[in-house]
Amino acid sequence: MNLFDLSGKTALVTGGNGGIGLGIARGFVEHGASVVLLARNTNKLKSASIEIGEKFGYDKVDAMKCDVTDRSSISKVLSRVTEKFGGLDVVVNNAGTNKRSDEPHLLSDADWRYVIDTNLTAIHNVTSLTFPLIKQRGGGKIINIGSMMSIFGTAYASAYAASKGGVVQYTKSCAVAWAKDNVQVNAILPGWIVTEMTDDFGKLFPDRYKLIEGRTPAGRWGIPDDLAGTAVFLASDASRFVTGTSIPVDGGYSVW
Ligand code: NDP
Repeated sequence: MNLFDLSGKTALVTGGNGGIGLGIARGFVEHGASVVLLARNTNKLKSASIEIGEKFGYDKVDAMKCDVTDRSSISKVLSRVTEKFGGLDVVVNNAGTNKRSDEPHLLSDADWRYVIDTNLTAIHNVTSLTFPLIKQRGGGKIINIGSMMSIFGTAYASAYAASKGGVVQYTKSCAVAWAKDNVQVNAILPGWIVTEMTDDFGKLFPDRYKLIEGRTPAGRWGIPDDLAGTAVFLASDASRFVTGTSIPVDGGYSVW
């Protein structure tokens, strides 16, 4: 038996229309799972589903418009998922956003709320609505995407750091609650990854961009596909006794 085999599993990936979410979805499908990609931008959802569908078959992918800050939007999608795939085995809470300010006191109330709603409250929305479906299958996996800012502080992204710190603690709480239900809940803490979210970083802060590269022992920024291996591990039977932990995937950034 291949411990990493995901055949017959259905995985929901929030923010699955690009970046890290799509990198993880690709890894899942390569290991036999079907994936449901959720996000708001329908053009990007369509291209992501064509990319996966052309390579692995259209029965392996569905893409649904969903705003994860809105519980009714999630509930609608979940009825479709149950109808089409008969249930759910894996959830990846990956959707995220960032708003920067020079210092914490300069971040607007609206930006604070937007970041906390998207990065933290939405994880609770999706998790609380999907847990009963996963439990019904006799167990499964929830994977939350944190950040280096789950560990470090930052002057210019205080709401982001607060939300990502919260992701780690929320992960532990769910893990403790649902170990009895055979649901393992873990987090991945990506290092610095080239995606749309960090697209402008090099232009806005060229010195910091170079600094990060130099400070990362692997000597480079990551790419979305770098996250796939750890996500497959956490989605598969290989991690059946791993729960409540947060795994940095960062080329060594967090260890010195
Ligand atoms: P992207 O900007 O490429 O992806 C963010 C994704 O979140 C998009 O698919 C976006 O889709 C989706 N999203 C945002 N808000 C919502 C919403 N309300 N409802 C549904 N979907 C939403 O960035 P990344 O791939 O880099 O980010 C993915 C995750 O990884 C985030 O949680 C981020 O914090 C985390 N991360 C990223 C790092 C990096 O260096 N890139 C480092 C550490 C963590 P749409 O806009 O279409 O809704």
